[in-house]
Amino acid sequence: MLRREAGSSTVHREVKPLREKWREHWEKRHEVLAPSLERANRWGTGLFWGMYLVAFYIAVFVLLPHYKHEDDGYVPLIMQIGFLAVEAALNWWVTFAVRSPVPREAAAGGEVEDGLPVGWKTCVICQLNIPARAHHCKVCQSCVLKRDHHCFFVGRCVGFRNQRHFVVLCFYVAVGLLYLAWMESGYLAEPFHHWENYLLLPALWDWLWGGVSLEDCLVLAHMYASAFFGLVGLAYFLWEILLLLSGTTSHEITHGISRYATGTLWHRFRSVMGDYGVVQFLVPLPFLSQPGNGIDWEQRAALAKCH
Ligand SMILES: [Zn+2]
Ligand SMILES: [Zn+2]
Repeated sequence: MLRREAGSSTVHREVKPLREKWREHWEKRHEVLAPSLERANRWGTGLFWGMYLVAFYIAVFVLLPHYKHEDDGYVPLIMQIGFLAVEAALNWWVTFAVRSPVPREAAAGGEVEDGLPVGWKTCVICQLNIPARAHHCKVCQSCVLKRDHHCFFVGRCVGFRNQRHFVVLCFYVAVGLLYLAWMESGYLAEPFHHWENYLLLPALWDWLWGGVSLEDCLVLAHMYASAFFGLVGLAYFLWEILLLLSGTTSHEITHGISRYATGTLWHRFRSVMGDYGVVQFLVPLPFLSQPGNGIDWEQRAALAKCH
């Protein structure tokens, strides 16, 4: 910006502070990216609940009558389907509802006389000084404590406070969908006879010539979708377990940062899953205590000096 002082012919060029420039740069980028990120968020959560409702419909109205046990009736299967459905829905909701924002009072208000504490940095978008392991999320439009990644199926960031519920959610998505795919393959054993019929194209050919029903073809297509998303859930679950045991986050592991990987395996497990980690697999209890505050992180002594 050019400014001419009154009564003078000198032209001064105002130099914007670097932080201000970065902020403008990010705001411009956000204007371009925001609509597509919001759309991806809506599609991701819509896909999750669409899959959930279709899986529930097939389990209750197609598989339940087929697998009805002669002696016990519907009860054992209703309990299995009900348990998996409730666990997936509850853990999705808790992962969505529990957020890990950087508390404003902890963010040093942007005024630090002796420089930022080790590991802290400034978020130019939020205009906050944020602690180690916190990162800004363009979709959530805020800084998130111990940010792991943004999950588009949940529509929220996975961070310090909800990572444990995300781990459990992945577990139940994997178990539920792979179990469903296995039950669907058993359901199709009768009309399909041979393994070649499990391939989609031969099955559609059979349907055209009246060999199998359209319903069986749809169950077959859903079996593939369930197996695929079940394996995606399993991959995410195993990845999160790897992060949990290695004491890192997705961001840190991909950027080769290992200085926060402190303590024993039990210490690392407790740091994410909390004091009653195993109980979280039965009932999601977000209010149960978790070690630390997500702001102060111990560093490995040898690596802390290199910072
Ligand atoms: Zn931020
Ligand atoms: Zn996010």
